Amino acid sequence: MSTPTPQDLAAQTTAAKTADHPFSLLPLAPAMLANLQQLGYLNMTPIQAASLPFALAGQDLIAQAKTGSGKTAAFALALLSRLDVRRFAVQTLVLCPTRELADQVTQEIRRLARAEENIKILTLCGGSTMRPQMASLEHGAHIVVGTPGRIMDHLERGSLNLSALNTLVLDEADRMLDMGFFDDIVTVAKQCPKERQTLLFSATYPEGIAKLSQQFLRNPKEVKVQGTHEASKIRQRWYEVERETRLDAVSKLLLHYRPASTIAFCNTKQQCRDLVDVLSAQGIEAIALHGDLEQRDRDQVLIQFANRSCSVLVATDVAARGLDIAQLEAVINVDVTPDPEVHIHRIGRTGRGDAEGWALNLASLDEMGRVGNIEVMQGRESEWHPLNELTPASKEPLLPPMITLQILGGRKEKIRPGDVLGALTGDAGFAGSQIGKINVTDFHTYVAVERSIARQAVSKLSSGKVKGKKVKVRFLNEL
Ligand code: ADP
Ligand code: MG
Repeated sequence: MSTPTPQDLAAQTTAAKTADHPFSLLPLAPAMLANLQQLGYLNMTPIQAASLPFALAGQDLIAQAKTGSGKTAAFALALLSRLDVRRFAVQTLVLCPTRELADQVTQEIRRLARAEENIKILTLCGGSTMRPQMASLEHGAHIVVGTPGRIMDHLERGSLNLSALNTLVLDEADRMLDMGFFDDIVTVAKQCPKERQTLLFSATYPEGIAKLSQQFLRNPKEVKVQGTHEASKIRQRWYEVERETRLDAVSKLLLHYRPASTIAFCNTKQQCRDLVDVLSAQGIEAIALHGDLEQRDRDQVLIQFANRSCSVLVATDVAARGLDIAQLEAVINVDVTPDPEVHIHRIGRTGRGDAEGWALNLASLDEMGRVGNIEVMQGRESEWHPLNELTPASKEPLLPPMITLQILGGRKEKIRPGDVLGALTGDAGFAGSQIGKINVTDFHTYVAVERSIARQAVSKLSSGKVKGKKVKVRFLNEL
């Protein structure tokens, strides 16, 4: 039997006549297939089905698909299939725009790499000290995931050697360009061996991508999965506002629809700050995510939002793109974006999986041109509703379902999520269902608990032990 060409295979993996596109169509090792099954990855996502046949065949690739479409596995499976574990040298470099994204990518690769023992993956990002990173590099790694600036630092110091590299991945390439990393990417790519595979992933396709690809990709196969969300899952509504009533309208939306988790997109950082002030004044828990935050504060913001102890994340597009946040009931577009593709992108964060989501949009008269462009792009007319139909759905304040407790002590103290869960469900006697996400960072552990048990949980944890030791616990925010 002859091996199918990537083209043949792609025709099969993307065949429309069946809804199922099992990973078993791909030339993957049985252990990998079993691991995918265990992870609950039963079928390829569309971008995976479109790109993996080419990526696994070693071709260069430009792949475009919206956030949350499974792009990480689309490159991770390719690089893992080529990895030689016995060769202890950096064989893959993945460039990501921010540390959070690098962390997310690292986690996903780790999950996918479980089928094979002893694969060493290192994350190298700014915001952490160089010395431990250099020590880790000395111990060696197969895969490095990092931000362009920090990777460049290591290359300059000679602590990172790329001579054995066979795969270069540019993840979230559009975002890296937004952040001004073009020159850094060029510098890093020039230090990679010429004989290599280059995979470029992006949610949108701005001009700079073509420029990058002309310089660094060889005959890339371009695959694009259109950002058509299932219209039925995202219910979109528009409201006309005046300049002065815009921010107030956001709280009206929140109190009317009462979503448990919302991202509110603003076009500027100033607008983000103003909105947080307006919402906080009304007792709505909102936090801003923007580029000026210290790394630690940024981490805390994301932890609180992802564990559902903050109702509203207020963000600019640059700050929020790429973040993988499930369970979002609503997206509010506080300002209309000038780029209709960005609009599609923003609203694609709600209505994931089987859940329904709201996309609620505010527009003033001077933004109607932008609204028109969005209508053209979406191929349908906007559904306008009057602002005065927004009435509070309940007299109760809009409170997030969970509360975050912060435990002093983290990875450095060898605390693991299971230790905290054990302390809460063991001696303290809480049900597992009352405990939410647990995040362990170097020096702190964050655990989300149901609002109704928060005080009790703090006192039980403080009087009991975690990992055999007494710990200090507090609410991350005031109650
Ligand atoms: P993107 O990079 O396109 O924004 P991610 O790679 O972060 O998307 O994937 C989004 C989520 O989907 C992740 O939580 C990932 O674990 C999950 N995922 C990816 N591929 C599959 C699959 N084939 N089946 C089920 N879940 C998947
Ligand atoms: Mg991604």
